[in-house]
Amino acid sequence: MSNPRLLLVHAHPDDESSQSAATIARYVDAGAQVTLVTCTLGERGEILVPDWEHFTEAELGQHRIDELKAAMDCMGLTDQVFLGGVGRYHDTGMDRAPDGSVIVPAEVPDNAFWNADLLEAANFLVEIIRSRRPHVLSTYNAIGGYGHPDHIMAHRVAMYAVTLAAAPSHAPELGEPWQVQRVVWSTHNTAMWQKAYPIAREKFPDLFGGEERDPDSFGPAVDYIEAVVPIEGYFDVYRRALAAHPSQVRIDDPFWQFHAITQQLPEAGEAYVFGCGQPFPPSDKPHTDLFVGLDLD
Ligand SMILES: [Zn+2]
Repeated sequence: MSNPRLLLVHAHPDDESSQSAATIARYVDAGAQVTLVTCTLGERGEILVPDWEHFTEAELGQHRIDELKAAMDCMGLTDQVFLGGVGRYHDTGMDRAPDGSVIVPAEVPDNAFWNADLLEAANFLVEIIRSRRPHVLSTYNAIGGYGHPDHIMAHRVAMYAVTLAAAPSHAPELGEPWQVQRVVWSTHNTAMWQKAYPIAREKFPDLFGGEERDPDSFGPAVDYIEAVVPIEGYFDVYRRALAAHPSQVRIDDPFWQFHAITQQLPEAGEAYVFGCGQPFPPSDKPHTDLFVGLDLD
């Protein structure tokens, strides 16, 4: 039996740290082959460091490459690829409709990831899938978790690439066909968010700008969560990896303090729902291992 191989597809630098830091570090430590694909440089992220506010989008993108490298060092991750090469796809950015929902901005760069040719973008990933041969691939659900256009696109590209990579008739020049056995979609750990919310609301009255949130809106119904990779032993890695992205994350602001509380509760961890392929075994949910029940050849 060979070591597990995991491939994660994230939209921007910092998504790997906020959603998958413990997963990445835990599997790296266990001897798994872990590969991160980042689809954009995150050039349109909000700049939170006052001294960096003058950065152009291109300058921010270059800076975020360094932030990502620092986060990877925290997690022990060594294999990272920008989809199509550095800067091939530009962060699309996001806007808010009057009802608060996330929408595509009225103006986007020519090479915005949202406008990527789906087949071309998927083929970049097909080549990576066929060379790394992951047993499990992790990305987002069809609405990108919260609706960011680049997260939706990451989902589309990843799901299409998984199908194409397995087909012997598709682009043989991109490598030998490879069937990813299981696709998982990372998600909020609903039960932990629900438990942490009253604690955080009490401590941080400014959480969510002081607005009340419906705890049922924090994530999928608990029954849908198939796996929770425990954060135990990796909380410090998660905080350091997140803090490695200071342009985007103020680690001590109410939201990230709330996030930290969700990760300090008993049974806390990074949550996943089933995407496609080999289902998780029906008993013992949530599983703590993304590879449970798979044949690791
Ligand atoms: Zn993102």
